[in-house]
Amino acid sequence: MLYSRRLDVRYTPDVLVVGGGAAGVTASAAAARMGRNVLLCESGGCFGGVGTTGLVPSFATFSDRENLLCSGIGLEIRRAACPGVPDDQAWTSIEPELLKRVYDDIVTEAGVDFLFFTKLCDVIAIDGRIDTCVFTSPEGMFAVRPKIVIDCTGDGEVIALAGGEFELGDENGDVMPSTLCSQWTGVNYDEYRKANVPEALEKAIADGIFTHEDRHLTGLNPRANGICGGNIGHIFGFRAADNRSMTDAMVWGRKSLLEYQRFYREYVRGCENITLTGTANMLGIRESRRILCDYTLAFKDFMRRMDFRDEIGRYCYPIDIHIMNTSAEEMNRFNQEYRGLKYAAGESYGIPLRALIPKSFTNAFTAGRCMGADRQMEASVRVMPGCYITGQAAGTAAAMAVTSGEARSVRASDLQKILYREGAYMRKELR
Ligand SMILES: Cc1cc2nc3c(=O)[nH]c(=O)nc-3n(C[C@H](O)[C@H](O)[C@H](O)COP(=O)(O)OP(=O)(O)OC[C@H]3O[C@@H](n4cnc5c(N)ncnc54)[C@H](O)[C@@H]3O)c2cc1C
Repeated sequence: MLYSRRLDVRYTPDVLVVGGGAAGVTASAAAARMGRNVLLCESGGCFGGVGTTGLVPSFATFSDRENLLCSGIGLEIRRAACPGVPDDQAWTSIEPELLKRVYDDIVTEAGVDFLFFTKLCDVIAIDGRIDTCVFTSPEGMFAVRPKIVIDCTGDGEVIALAGGEFELGDENGDVMPSTLCSQWTGVNYDEYRKANVPEALEKAIADGIFTHEDRHLTGLNPRANGICGGNIGHIFGFRAADNRSMTDAMVWGRKSLLEYQRFYREYVRGCENITLTGTANMLGIRESRRILCDYTLAFKDFMRRMDFRDEIGRYCYPIDIHIMNTSAEEMNRFNQEYRGLKYAAGESYGIPLRALIPKSFTNAFTAGRCMGADRQMEASVRVMPGCYITGQAAGTAAAMAVTSGEARSVRASDLQKILYREGAYMRKELR
């Protein structure tokens, strides 16, 4: 069928940011702090994406143990969301309700215009430019015509809907399993700290309590008052950007956590009274579309601790491709990559500006999980500090590109100076 209707063009912002996760919040705040008129549209009812609605329980490291690589807006967010935690602490538990309010404050104080319950459903691209973005909202559909767009949807939805180029998964299109994160109560931390969880897991697997013999258990993350965040279980065979697969994954995620509740209660010290109190309303998707950008940050760049002349920041998290199936070979592969390729203190890789510019369009940037990276590098830079670093850079670059309307008009050296002035980490030669 052919469907057509007349739409209001309700907004014509300098910068449109689609998706209000870790990347979208920092991108929109950075662009608004540069004095631009910024509209941020988020399909859910709060900011933070996987880190709040998705109940991901902790921030990965902000530091390479010598330098605070994620400083700038990301560090402002973490300081407000985790008061009293040292800046260089490796892992930090997230209180999702506090983090939601911190994000509200960051965008409000920056002067970002934002809308919740507003989902991008179509994009019209003309002659290599993103011309119009169409949204659905509780008031119906409307159009937005921005000068510059930033795709912070995590899944590269803007670029995919516009017909731009992206990659998905490995050579067979398979992606890492997703996880439905969860919240638990009734844990006695003092006892739990003494528990030998790997040994308990082996015993429970041998006793046949699990549907899948999954030995890659990320586990429980203590919050206050016996409450824990859970990054528990893997949903194998998950297909990214696939509505049916996402639906099935939610159902299995909820069901499988009952197996883990039994496991913790019966096998793990300190968890005899553990109770599942909630599961996320958003699936924890580790991997989906990776937008093809002017540069694809690649595994070789990780191995070479690469410096780029146009780098917008640096990061250091290991290659964290979770096991794709429950075989022993996969567990070995994971151990070699994640545990074996960890950087020493002070080591990091650069992230070039070109990896934030989608190659199919002239007026677009991207940041966060869907930026231009190969599978291995996506599995490093996708963690929240990586999303803050790329978000702040994409937002600042977008603000600089408004006058010309061309993403590629931004000079990396000018961007580096502004980012450094605004608190972002920049290696000495580029400040
Ligand atoms: C299970 C799991 C565990 C993890 N553990 C950690 C960890 O311990 N530490 C860590 O630092 N990182 C962790 N990560 C990684 C990290 O949380 C995410 O990769 C990161 O938060 C992604 O941020 P983002 O802004 O790119 O995307 P998202 O958080 O996915 O945000 C995208 C936002 O865009 C919105 N959106 C999407 N499509 C549309 C649309 N069409 N219209 C409007 N809005 C849209 C979504 O609602 C969402 O709010 C984990 C990830 C997962 C899945």
